[in-house]
This record gives sequence, structure tokens and C-alpha cells, in this order.
Amino acid sequence: MTTSKKWWEKEPPRFECQTDCFKCCAKPGIVYFDKKSIENASKITKLSPARFKKEFLKRNDGQWIHEVEDGNPCAFLIPEGCSIHFGKPIQCRSYPFWYENMTSKAMWKLVGGFCPGIGSGPHIAVATIRNFLDKFKY
Ligand code: SF4
Ligand code: SF4
Repeated sequence: MTTSKKWWEKEPPRFECQTDCFKCCAKPGIVYFDKKSIENASKITKLSPARFKKEFLKRNDGQWIHEVEDGNPCAFLIPEGCSIHFGKPIQCRSYPFWYENMTSKAMWKLVGGFCPGIGSGPHIAVATIRNFLDKFKY
């Protein structure tokens, strides 16, 4: 059986995160923390996983989440950027290559109205995009 190629397989999109932007860290929404992310972020914040969960996360539909509310950026955002950069969840590492953003080229362009990194920088390899889509599926 043959499957038709996705638009981003035919035409790998350009992306480069912009220095000092951090818009996506201030956007209201949910940041999912899986077990590994909790372990990593706990080490960086020097908290036990239990304490980290108590301080920053809540349980929602079987997942650990950190909520970002309107006008109140992610708790891990500091002026220099993400304070848990080396332990940040796959959701953050894979942005903007999320399923919902990759469904069509029109959608990708729409997200580009928010994220200034879209459309700039190098073409991102198909394998890299596939890897992000495989790892972050919420
Ligand atoms: S909105 Fe885009 S360019 Fe800005 S920090 Fe997020 S990923 Fe980078
Ligand atoms: S965990 Fe870090 S990268 Fe993710 S939203 Fe918060 S500040 Fe941004």
C-alpha cells in the first residue's frame, strides 16, 4: 500500500527559534510532564520528584501537567530563557513541530503568525520532524 507524502516531507519547512523570543512559554495552555521530564526537571531544580510535582504540577486526566494561564508565563521561564532547558519536556523541545501544527501547510503558516521562528533558518530534516511527531502525541 502506498501512502501519500505529507506536505512537510515534500517541502521540508524552515525553522529557527529566535533569540529572546519566549512567546511560546508565555502562551496560555498546558505543559505535559512525563516521568522522565519530571526526573530531569527535579534534578535541575534540586527538588525531589514528589516536591517538584507538589510545587509545579497538577494531575489531569492521568497526566502530570503544568498550567500556563493568561498573563502568567510558564513558571520555569526566567529572563534568560527556560530555567530547566536541559530537562524541559518533549512538548517544549518539539515545538512548533506538533501534530496540530503540521496538519497542513496552511496551518503551519497560521502558526507562523505567532511563532517568528517559522519560515526562518534552515530547512528541518524530515527525520527530525518525524521524530518529534513520534515522541509528542498529545
Ligand atoms: S515562539 Fe517560536 S521563535 Fe519564539 S521562542 Fe517559541 S519556538 Fe522560538
Ligand atoms: S518548561 Fe521551559 S520551554 Fe517549556 S514552556 Fe516552560 S519555560 Fe518554556
